Amino acid sequence: MMTEPALTAHDPNCLFCKITAGQIPSRKVYEDDTLFAFHDIRPAAPVHFLIVPKQHIPSMAQVRPSEEALLGKMMALAPQLALEQGCNPYPEGGFRIVVNTGTEGGQEVHHLHLHVMGGPRPWKHG
Ligand code: ADP
Repeated sequence: MMTEPALTAHDPNCLFCKITAGQIPSRKVYEDDTLFAFHDIRPAAPVHFLIVPKQHIPSMAQVRPSEEALLGKMMALAPQLALEQGCNPYPEGGFRIVVNTGTEGGQEVHHLHLHVMGGPRPWKHG
């Protein structure tokens, strides 16, 4: 059986690792043993927060089969937090999930994150 190379659990140079560890302040939305969510510092919509794994996964490009459950948990958390943060309910309300991946994909912070954006339109990426 192939063994997967270990990913670094915490990158001391990573902004989002510092945020999940509480070393840099953030406006926290949610936290459990594996995930952390916080408001985006430059919101592109009335509701705009990020969901990140506590483990340092650089991007969607590094996600492996062993992280499928973690990815599913991140996706499943989005609608719950979106409602809690003021998005209107489906179908009139809703939200957008964006995962920028790599420089050409618009990723600036290289720690996997879901953007969850919603609220009354118009908004930047609407
Ligand atoms: P982009 O900036 O193109 O959206 P990313 O997908 O990598 O690139 O998103 C990084 C996000 O992190 C940006 O929306 C940015 O506003 C946000 N951000 C950067 N620094 C902080 C911070 N200290 N606290 C909260 N959000 C931050």
